[in-house]
Amino acid sequence: MPSINGYRLSRYVLEVPASEEFTILHSTLYGSTAVISSVLLHSTHDRITNSSDTSLQLDPEDIRRLVEQEILISDDVDERDRIRYLVNSAKFNYTAMEVALVATRACNFRCKYCTEAGRFSDAHMTDETADAAVNYIKNVADAKGTQHLTVGFYGGEPLLNLEGIVHAAHALREAFRSTRTKLVLFAVTNGYELTPKAFDRLADAGVVSFQVTLDGPKDVHDSRRVLRGGGATWERIVRNMIALVQDERLNALGIRINIDRHSSLSVPHLLDELQEQQILADTRRVQAYIAPVIPSFHPEDNWNSYVLRGREKGEVFVRLWEEMATRGLPVVAFPNVFPCGLHVEWGTLVDPSGDLYACSGFLGMSEYVKGKLPDGRMSRSHLRFLTEPLPDRCEECCWAPLCGGGCKYIAAITGRQNCEKAFFDLAYPAFVRISTQQDVEWRDDLQHLSACL
Ligand code: SF4
Ligand code: SF4
Repeated sequence: MPSINGYRLSRYVLEVPASEEFTILHSTLYGSTAVISSVLLHSTHDRITNSSDTSLQLDPEDIRRLVEQEILISDDVDERDRIRYLVNSAKFNYTAMEVALVATRACNFRCKYCTEAGRFSDAHMTDETADAAVNYIKNVADAKGTQHLTVGFYGGEPLLNLEGIVHAAHALREAFRSTRTKLVLFAVTNGYELTPKAFDRLADAGVVSFQVTLDGPKDVHDSRRVLRGGGATWERIVRNMIALVQDERLNALGIRINIDRHSSLSVPHLLDELQEQQILADTRRVQAYIAPVIPSFHPEDNWNSYVLRGREKGEVFVRLWEEMATRGLPVVAFPNVFPCGLHVEWGTLVDPSGDLYACSGFLGMSEYVKGKLPDGRMSRSHLRFLTEPLPDRCEECCWAPLCGGGCKYIAAITGRQNCEKAFFDLAYPAFVRISTQQDVEWRDDLQHLSACL
């Protein structure tokens, strides 16, 4: 790699053309972004490649800013040390901790691709288990100096145990009332029981942020996300959402749109419906995002064959992000897999039995229990996940900061490393381009460099 005044471009920096005039430089390692003149970038590349002139006169202020953003790095830095440091330090970085309480392992739906299929149980989390979980979380947060704690209520379908959520939410708020840890509560729900009446109870308990899933317009959604005994779900979920977004107490609603080969073509029709119903009108509080269906250990009707992979997955994501951008909808969530619970020490789901898991895909599978309440001492299986080194080829890969060597849950199903390189190659530059253009347009908070490289 060419050197300029003792610096070089980091191998984790992407060059993404934003327009004829500008190129985006984005570091996957640090998440930093700069927009620079394409003419300057290309002329500098040419001069480096075609001549022995190493005395390029760069604006020292631009160099300083690019070095600060880790876009330019010093010639003597071995970046493999940096990626090893990132992966190892993320494992034990409790500054922003995210945990989940599984309010119940029961579900009123039977989605075709559910990762918990075949392992539902009617167990609800009791108040005693919730109190032990809160105690455990508080001890960890205090000991590790956690500044931001996010607790999600998860299932099954968590709202089937509404009173359990209310009890745990009050207990969590009480436990962290006079601490320096900022607590955020949210619920991941299928939306069927998120009625105005249920929202009253949840809002009183401080649960005012939600993730709700819709898989497409009515016909597509109702063929995939069906009631346990059979029956449609779309209309009631949408009715609940219409009421929810009009309620001023709502803090945030993320509408997850699961996509696979069966559903992806129908997403524009779903967006039509959501926009017509004014559900997406307040983009500050309500955001739709696309997410991939992932394989299940026990899918219905071999549904795993619909899972998108590689280039095809990349093409579908790019097409749908462009569709969203054209409609003026924010493109906010990239489906990266690092860091997740199986890569870190702190990611935890507490099951109603008091067992701890690191990944929702393994709920109910005793061989993947991470620890147990009350003390959460780590199991051998999680120790193995946590200490697995990054494979050599991943240390050289610019996607490692987003991928961490791939999803270990999917690897457990397929029996091999889940490398998403073909997907990242296609999708991430497009995501950076679209989201950066939206940043520039809507928030104007990017650094525009006068000259560099
Ligand atoms: S709502 Fe969630 S937990 Fe219930 S069946 Fe569907 S994907 Fe599974
Ligand atoms: S698994 Fe594939 S995409 Fe991920 S870091 Fe390794 S080589 Fe890169």
